[in-house]
Amino acid sequence: MVCPPQADKAYQTNQHLRERSVNKDEYCICDECGSKFLKSSSKMMTLCPECAHVLYGYPNCAHAFKNGRCIYCHWDGSQSEYVKRLKRTE
Ligand SMILES: [Zn+2]
Ligand SMILES: [Zn+2]
Repeated sequence: MVCPPQADKAYQTNQHLRERSVNKDEYCICDECGSKFLKSSSKMMTLCPECAHVLYGYPNCAHAFKNGRCIYCHWDGSQSEYVKRLKRTE
């Protein structure tokens, strides 16, 4: 048995890793708190990272506020009554 030399070198194109030009800088309105947030920063399309974290346990953004908004996820610090209550009982 002879192995063909350098057979599969150039064929390693991972198609699913191809850049899908993710809608960068696309903003959404959070269903829960009503704040605008950066879509790519949250695991959920309809919730900002903060609400997704409190409601569903997704990893939260390490918010860093500047001019009233997080520079990472663009959350403005809004909290619904429901979320506030959940946090208070934590
Ligand atoms: Zn929210
Ligand atoms: Zn944030």
